[in-house]
Amino acid sequence: MLTISPAGALRELKRLYRPPQSFLHWRTPLDLLIATVLSARCTDAQVNRVTPILFDRCRTARDYGNLPRSELERIIHSCGTFRSKARYIHGLCKKLAEEYRGTVPRTLEELTALPGVGRKTACIVLYAAFGKNEGIAVDTHVFRVARRLGLSRGKTPERVERDLMALFPRKEWGRINALFISHGRAVCTAQRRKCEQCAFKQKCSSSLVLKKKDLGK
Ligand code: SF4
Repeated sequence: MLTISPAGALRELKRLYRPPQSFLHWRTPLDLLIATVLSARCTDAQVNRVTPILFDRCRTARDYGNLPRSELERIIHSCGTFRSKARYIHGLCKKLAEEYRGTVPRTLEELTALPGVGRKTACIVLYAAFGKNEGIAVDTHVFRVARRLGLSRGKTPERVERDLMALFPRKEWGRINALFISHGRAVCTAQRRKCEQCAFKQKCSSSLVLKKKDLGK
């Protein structure tokens, strides 16, 4: 049984944080799609260091296609798993150029059919670039915070997403990702959660103040 009401948690998180729609820097939907692919197993800060160089070289899907694979790998090297990310970027840009005249499609089905684009990436792009709430992108912060607060006991991101979608109104789905990330970075951190400073310390299922176990793992 929940001890924290989802509506109350959302109200409090909105009061505490004013996050952007995306923590990644971008100007066009294509920029955002590429940056989100690069952010897999990499910090947003590192992606934001790399993308100005990349976006300066490539403004369209065809530009990415024309960039030699070795050059693309060199630019994105510091984002990790750079060979597979370069392969995905070339593959998805080829498909965008051939099937969508270089534009980024606006449905979950079309986006997730692109190479290297999973549900999480698609949800981030749909919300931040097009204002569409199609799901809740569950990254490591969202997963941890949702479980610690007792909003989900799901053992996989997919299960946690389903639980959160059932608890929160659809119009909030996109924003939940940024709010939970903000809390996960500022207070409910992975290694040393700062429960004494937390607005949820008296109700949270993992509160150190209440001597609870960490349910976020
Ligand atoms: S009380 Fe502790 S575990 Fe719960 S949300 Fe706050 S920081 Fe995280």
